[in-house]
Amino acid sequence: MLIVMKQTATEDEVAAVIDRIESVGARAHPSRGEEVTVIGAFGDREHIGRLELEGAPGVERVVPILKPYKLASAQVRQGQRTVLDIGGRRIGGEHFALIAGPCTVESRDQTLTTAQVVAAAGATMFRGGAYKPRTSPYAFQGLGEEGLRLLARAREETGLPVVTEVMTPEAVPLVERYADCLQIGARNMQNFNLLQACGKSAKPILLKRGLSSTLEELLMAAEYILASGNRRVILCERGIRTFERATRNTLDLSAVAVLKQWSHLPVLVDPSHGTGHAAFVPAMARAAVAAGADGLLIEVHPHPERALSDGPQSLTPAGLAQTAAEVAAVARAVGRR
Ligand code: PEP
Ligand code: MN
Repeated sequence: MLIVMKQTATEDEVAAVIDRIESVGARAHPSRGEEVTVIGAFGDREHIGRLELEGAPGVERVVPILKPYKLASAQVRQGQRTVLDIGGRRIGGEHFALIAGPCTVESRDQTLTTAQVVAAAGATMFRGGAYKPRTSPYAFQGLGEEGLRLLARAREETGLPVVTEVMTPEAVPLVERYADCLQIGARNMQNFNLLQACGKSAKPILLKRGLSSTLEELLMAAEYILASGNRRVILCERGIRTFERATRNTLDLSAVAVLKQWSHLPVLVDPSHGTGHAAFVPAMARAAVAAGADGLLIEVHPHPERALSDGPQSLTPAGLAQTAAEVAAVARAVGRR
């Protein structure tokens, strides 16, 4: 249920409503907007209903949340968009985020060189995988903690916050010690233990859509993180499995429009995994911005032909600079910073 407070409601009235919700074992999530405070009440509907909060002091109205995802729903924030601050960089609302870096952290030189390229392109964050979910057990699995140290070093040298993937609940404490934002990969989107562990993290979570997941399933996965206590979640469309073979995945750009209607969370697009070919990345990056994406996640490598993973879809440094400039022009045209 959503308890919409009156514009004139006092802090005491808000606190009293929260107390009453919690008195029946339900959870209260207040969301303070510019005009009104809205309190989400999550728990047994009947118990909450019996509180008859409609008549409580300061309450304007009580409305049911119709979607199965509650905290992730646009309704819970009454149309306000969530803006995250990650290491001083804003993502969401009018703030557009360019996040770029190599698929995998391979070496000190490759990581630090790429980080400089990414910073020069005006990026918001640096990405790189230290733990890689590979289809083959014989493929390079990442440098592990050594990779995390290189990412931290890249942050020191460029000032860019870093995002990297965490693959297991057990690894969350280690990865969050180095990273500014934790990525949950497509293959782990419904790893509920991992979602809950990330829900207890103090770091924001970048959640990628599963290879064959519906948008409702993506939002239910986000709900696991939110319901576990972490309110800082970013969604990412990265392409889905279809019959089409021309591209590695089919980048579902309609997901941007849908997710932005259904949810208040920022929505990123990853045109690198979405297409699988560097040649198609710039066009889909521009299209994603035009469609309303709050940011892009792009793979770049100083020598794509030598990359240990995802070389074919990685932009060159020059390609990234060019794409960043084009994307910035489109972003300005659609009213983003
Ligand atoms: C990645 O970002 O490098 C990655 C492995 O992505 P995904 O989980 O979307 O395949
Ligand atoms: Mn990759």
